[in-house]
Amino acid sequence: MKNDIIFNLIKVHQRIENACKIVGRNPNDVRLLLATKTVAAEQIRLAIEAGETLIGENKMQELRDKNDVLQHLPIERHFIGHLQTNKVKDVLKYVTCIQSLDRLSLADELHKQLQNQNRKLDVFVQVNTSYEESKFGLAPEEVLSFIKKIKTYETLNIKGLMTIGLLDVEKEKMIPSLRLLRTVRDEIYSEGIDGLQDLKLSMGMSQDLELAIAEGSNMVRVGTSIFGNRFLGKEIWNENIAE
Ligand SMILES: *Cc1c(COP(=O)(O)O)cnc(C)c1O
Repeated sequence: MKNDIIFNLIKVHQRIENACKIVGRNPNDVRLLLATKTVAAEQIRLAIEAGETLIGENKMQELRDKNDVLQHLPIERHFIGHLQTNKVKDVLKYVTCIQSLDRLSLADELHKQLQNQNRKLDVFVQVNTSYEESKFGLAPEEVLSFIKKIKTYETLNIKGLMTIGLLDVEKEKMIPSLRLLRTVRDEIYSEGIDGLQDLKLSMGMSQDLELAIAEGSNMVRVGTSIFGNRFLGKEIWNENIAE
């Protein structure tokens, strides 16, 4: 188990480096986030001991269950799943960043809770660049006006944009939804808004990380290629459905 994870991590870092090399990017500009849904805390700990510093969880329940093991380790925890408004307060106990900000009511609730706690939070705005109905995220056309609105919330540090690309067996079908996130970001840049000049792109998973890096990703979120198939021997569950 331990050797598998370490071996897989080496392979994923090699994939990131190769993908950067091909398009002339600096590998330091692409951060690896471990997508750890359904992965046991002890397994996550092995990856952290191997030098990883960033994990992403999809469910409040898992953040809570793994907290005893993970809370004292030198890592950042991000929330990358669909977040229900009534879970905000709990999730804020565990994470320093929410990558799945996808609606104004969620921004309002975050702002309210953060004001109460007198703290700030990093956020990524989730964009549904594949236009799939099963996916959360703002429509690409809505992002600019949404960002302008939440920019007035001083509790939220807008760090960038996040998407889950369209997964397909054909590369040509996967590229557009990745490219579109960059296009949306460039549209925001062209407005020249203060404080929105350095937005990161969180995109690319086990299947499409090379493509995402070629399209400008700054953070790839990888689960399966590191921890193995979540569905083996488990009940199939839809990751996009909220708790
Ligand atoms: C599960 C998940 C990932 C990682 O997917 P893999 O295909 O296992 O690499 C990335 N991002 C989000 C939001 C996820 O839910």
